[in-house]
Amino acid sequence: MSMASDLSNPLLQTRDPAKRSWLASANDAACDFSIQNLPFGIFSDQRNGAPRAGVAIGDAIVDLAALRVAGLLALDADDDVFSRPSLNAFVALGRDVWRSVRVQLSALLDAACSTLRDDAALRARVLVPMSDAAMHLPVDIPGYTDFYSSKEHATNVGTMFRDPKNALLPNWSEMPIGYNGRASSVVVSGTPVCRPMGQLKLPDQDRPIYGACRKLDIELETGFIVGRGNALGEPIACAQAEDHIFGMVLLNDWSARDIQQWEYVPLGPFNAKTFATTISPWIVTLDALEPFRVAQPEQTPEPLPYLRHTGDHAFDLALEVRLRPEGADAATTIARTNFKQMYWTMAQQLAHHTVSGCNTRVGDLMGSGTISGAAPDSFGSLLELTWNGARPLALEGGGARTFIVDGDELTLAGWCQGDGYRVGFGTCVGKILPARG
Ligand code: MN
Repeated sequence: MSMASDLSNPLLQTRDPAKRSWLASANDAACDFSIQNLPFGIFSDQRNGAPRAGVAIGDAIVDLAALRVAGLLALDADDDVFSRPSLNAFVALGRDVWRSVRVQLSALLDAACSTLRDDAALRARVLVPMSDAAMHLPVDIPGYTDFYSSKEHATNVGTMFRDPKNALLPNWSEMPIGYNGRASSVVVSGTPVCRPMGQLKLPDQDRPIYGACRKLDIELETGFIVGRGNALGEPIACAQAEDHIFGMVLLNDWSARDIQQWEYVPLGPFNAKTFATTISPWIVTLDALEPFRVAQPEQTPEPLPYLRHTGDHAFDLALEVRLRPEGADAATTIARTNFKQMYWTMAQQLAHHTVSGCNTRVGDLMGSGTISGAAPDSFGSLLELTWNGARPLALEGGGARTFIVDGDELTLAGWCQGDGYRVGFGTCVGKILPARG
């Protein structure tokens, strides 16, 4: 494809690294919400308490419903699709509509476009400062599935709890292992999380006790949001699977390790995972992530035919975990890793999920599984970072952690680093409150 035809494609223009916005905060090289990003979310503010659709740009939110009222956003659909408290109705309109909205916003926010840039009254109606806004869950989530697709994570867990020589079970290299999670307890970033109560089996006692979790943990994950479902009995082919994905979020799959260790045989995690899952509020579209597409790790043995795809299906997405104790001024970064080294791709996860004929729906959330790298400071859980509590982590400003203490605030952050700009996810934050004993 020639450069000339590239520049004549409006969707490709939205990803031009040289593009800048008239909103100065969006042009900061470290800003997550550059004009190349344009993620979708649901927000409310003091002026209008009704949750509605917005797009993040710099330190502001574009109110899509207000933009529509102002006649600045053409949409071949129901007028109030952006006035609803979830993005599901908008997402259900399909990829051509997502792309049309992206292209229109990119043009309106471009430094060269005077429509909003030179009209303060109009800007006041359609731009909301992020600091004045409350974020809500971006989609109604009909179903939540969590995978287990990091080879390093699965190897660490297998080494710790089973056999270091056979850390990976034979099925792991043949399919993206997953389980059906709990959609009702998915919460948006900023929602406090109570330490769960449950059954704990202490090593020196025959029977379990009922008590508060003593090994409360995080799992650093991403999640993808299904943008186009499939009918019952009609699997999604691996080669087409990305067409069914609207975008990605950060996901903290809070885990009660002691409850998990006692309950998980033979059907897998239950109460240890169902008390809360936190996601970041902004859905970063695959259209925005496209420039950061990279090759996934080589897969040996070659997957069965229904799990094969050609080309690159991983994304170069830097990830961090920060821990801030109650009252502390500073957070300690306890892990740094990257999504690109995940063994199974999102496309393979979706193909495998539906190969049985299982249907998916718009808004379904699919967790990646804990994202761990090879280095000890790139592990995506405290279980691995402290090796099940054997190696406490030192915190800046004093203190140490094995597992989470009441009052701790855990933050996930993630971003794709472009040349002079970022396509970032913002943060996924949760503070742990004491158990309701
Ligand atoms: Mn998980």
